[in-house]
Amino acid sequence: MSRKADFPGLVTSSGKPWHYLDSAATAQKPQAVIDAVTKALGVDYATVHRGVYTRSAEMTLGYEAARRRVAQLIGGREDEVVFTRGATEAINLVAYSYPNKGRVLLSTLEHHSNIVPWQLAGWQIDVCPLTPDGKIDLDAAERMLTPEHTMVAFAHVSNVLGSVLDAKRAAELAHSVGAKLLLDGCQAVPRMAVDVAALDCDFYAFSGHKLYGPTGIGALWARGEILDAMPPWQGGGSMIDRVTFEKTTYAPPPQRFEAGTPAIVEAIGLGAACDYVAAIGLDAIHAHEARLVAATREALRGMNDVTLFGPEDAAGIVSFAIRGVHPHDLGTILDEEDVAIRAGHHCAQPLMEHLGVDATARASFGLYSDEDDIAALLRGIERTKRIFG
Ligand code: PMP
Repeated sequence: MSRKADFPGLVTSSGKPWHYLDSAATAQKPQAVIDAVTKALGVDYATVHRGVYTRSAEMTLGYEAARRRVAQLIGGREDEVVFTRGATEAINLVAYSYPNKGRVLLSTLEHHSNIVPWQLAGWQIDVCPLTPDGKIDLDAAERMLTPEHTMVAFAHVSNVLGSVLDAKRAAELAHSVGAKLLLDGCQAVPRMAVDVAALDCDFYAFSGHKLYGPTGIGALWARGEILDAMPPWQGGGSMIDRVTFEKTTYAPPPQRFEAGTPAIVEAIGLGAACDYVAAIGLDAIHAHEARLVAATREALRGMNDVTLFGPEDAAGIVSFAIRGVHPHDLGTILDEEDVAIRAGHHCAQPLMEHLGVDATARASFGLYSDEDDIAALLRGIERTKRIFG
């Protein structure tokens, strides 16, 4: 399915192919998104929600249409989608505003943005361990959950290991003790079909820039009745019903949670990104990335001194280590070969501690990745091994 031609970013400054294997950090943008952003920033540009003139009314329609596209992509209702700056802000919003603060069950593999907000907002944190192959151990979760838990917050797909959560079972377990389930869908939304209704989760957070959209925009989906019961998080324009110095009443969701002039252009770009991936189909994207993961894992398994992390059925992401080579050195040498991987703790320091390493090398795929990228990665690894020989 290689669609490299749609992505102007996938060449080096000298016009050679750039083997971009860091899509889990942020995805390259298709021309359709770049065009939508350019148009929104140019000939269509105006504010939303407040203007009485035609351009503003049209921009408002465009902004709200983007919300509809996000809702359609993940199977939620339009008025249940709150635009945020990204997954980080979405999780912070829930950690601070969910009225029934208590114990939250997280897991060892969470990204820092699904750990620190809960700490800052004063939740009691329990940590669910992982299975030997690096999935969240839901049998352990079942044993750990108590009626004191009011929230379970798990990554739908791990940004380091690619492990896919059995989200339906996680929802059943959370609900069996009266807790809500928040899914951090940052790595899932770009690489598998997500249907929040079928998953039966309560909150779903993701970032637009990993879904081939712009930075500075993402979404929190939450069940309507839960959002209705949540107080505002930030105050300002657009989130109010009526303001006096004595008392302010608030707009209904989702506006209640969108204080200030929103990221209008970015939201429209995200809407275009939703259209782009929907036209290809997330099942097709998932199958494509699964083939690339299988091929990469098989090739790396055949090399001496390589340790592979994560499960065989990882989604779109392969983390590994080479004995005697620091991941940063590998990343630097690969860069000389126009191969971009990520090396580091991937904002998951507790997981690094669990794996007994301070960093991993991570190759992560997007819908544009192909066998040439894998071949370039493998050539670069062989060269690195010779250098460190
Ligand atoms: N959760 C996961 C699983 C992630 O991979 C990331 C980004 N690396 C985040 C949360 C945070 O996303 P953002 O920085 O876009 O808010």
